Amino acid sequence: MNGKVYLIGAGPGDPGLITLKGYEYLKIADVVVYDRLANPRLLENIKEGCKLIYVGKASKEHTKTQDEINEIIFQEAKKGNIVVRLKGGDPYVFGRGGEEAEYLYDRGIDFEVVPGVTSAIGGLAYAGIPITHRGISTSFHVITGHLKDEGQELNWNALAGLDGTMVFLMGVSNLEDISANLIKHGKDKETPAAIINWATTNQQRVVEGNLSNIYEKALEEDIQPPSLIVIGDVINLREKLNFYDNKPLLGTNIVVTREKRYAKETVRKLEELGGNVISFPTIKIEEITPNKKLDESIINIDRYSHIVFTSVNGVEIFFKRFFELEKDIRSISGIKISAVGPKTAAVIKKYGINADLVPKEFVGEGLVEELKKVLSKEDRILIPRAEIARKELVDELSKVCLVDEVKIYRTSKSIESRNEIINSLKDLESYYLIFTSSSTFINFIEILDQDTRWVLDKGKVISIGPITTKTIEEKGYSIYKQSEIYTIDGILELLIKESR
Ligand code: SAH
Repeated sequence: MNGKVYLIGAGPGDPGLITLKGYEYLKIADVVVYDRLANPRLLENIKEGCKLIYVGKASKEHTKTQDEINEIIFQEAKKGNIVVRLKGGDPYVFGRGGEEAEYLYDRGIDFEVVPGVTSAIGGLAYAGIPITHRGISTSFHVITGHLKDEGQELNWNALAGLDGTMVFLMGVSNLEDISANLIKHGKDKETPAAIINWATTNQQRVVEGNLSNIYEKALEEDIQPPSLIVIGDVINLREKLNFYDNKPLLGTNIVVTREKRYAKETVRKLEELGGNVISFPTIKIEEITPNKKLDESIINIDRYSHIVFTSVNGVEIFFKRFFELEKDIRSISGIKISAVGPKTAAVIKKYGINADLVPKEFVGEGLVEELKKVLSKEDRILIPRAEIARKELVDELSKVCLVDEVKIYRTSKSIESRNEIINSLKDLESYYLIFTSSSTFINFIEILDQDTRWVLDKGKVISIGPITTKTIEEKGYSIYKQSEIYTIDGILELLIKESR
């Protein structure tokens, strides 16, 4: 049986601007065919085993012709797959979505179109430009700026006579011609004009001017595609309506090296502040199963007077198994619970438990000191944690009472994204690298191998705290700064301060 194709608009750049429907279909796709303008971050939501096919074109050097793309989509659907064709903006706004749909129709393949937020409207909004405005602009016109390939000359006379907002797509390389033609055919040369590069992304740049000088200004700023050319008086509203350009981390590149699942929150916070996040998930977390020792300790949980959690993973894996074994949360009501820091404590709280002890110093030593104050010989501690973890905690606590360390997960290097990351770092002028633990750093340098030196030297290394810093220095590298407060939020504060 044939599959089905969903032609989905990914929105202009900000991954949050995809529609709910598009997002849901993306999650069930067997194959995703995507191009340059669809934010790759959206691909983090695909299901396990989903095939990704890049058919992006970089302006002149087409990697795949439109015919080839049509054929790829068709062939994948013919095999019975659910195919998502993910396109930047809206699939039918200069996206050749219509041609792809026709090709499928002619071959009897079922398809559906999920419209998207076009850059021609959404891109302007993020630059503080409403495409229409009462009393200023009563119509808008979206025009191709890719004059040559279309094989027909635009009707400049008609265009120059328009009062509404004009938006040219694919027009940067013809900007000089576009503005000259409009002026030649009678458009006032003082008409406000703006260029928006990488609209709605954290690399968004806006150049403002008027019809007679916008080309020079864009040249000075070295504006490249993808960019929108906007012409009209609505640009003047930018002064008041520009909410996006004021974000503190806008234009700041930040490499986040964390395990994928737990990086999400950090990435979200950084992006909300306008940061351009390059996600480098160095560590994969694998639960150790079956795990007889863990099962035994859960079944006989009343043996313990304390449970000590040293990581978010530890908490989640422990409770997952706890409930799988049909234990009741009340069976640990008499047990004291400790967390290594506020993040771990916050996850414990999700299970309805306020940790009894969270040390003020967010490092292993702080925990040992605090625990020693309350422990006595009769106590028995359970520590469910990573397979490889620092010995000090168990050694030190064992001096006081009985300690059962149960290894419940292992971390392994995740190497899939290596080349992709290296390539994107090569193109960046500057970036920060955030390290939130010794193990992420060690994995990072092992994965990067001979590329470590230039990657670290080119960027600014930020360490979450003294232990991570020590590891970095022991390996022969230096840090740029260490967070004053040893948490992710501490790092965010540091980055905001840097940007001032
Ligand atoms: N279907 C897309 C447009 C595809 S044509 C849409 O609806 O937005 C490609 C052109 O769109 C680019 O050359 C550029 O002019 C514009 N464009 C798309 N995304 C953009 C972005 N994030 N910033 C600036 N221009 C963008």
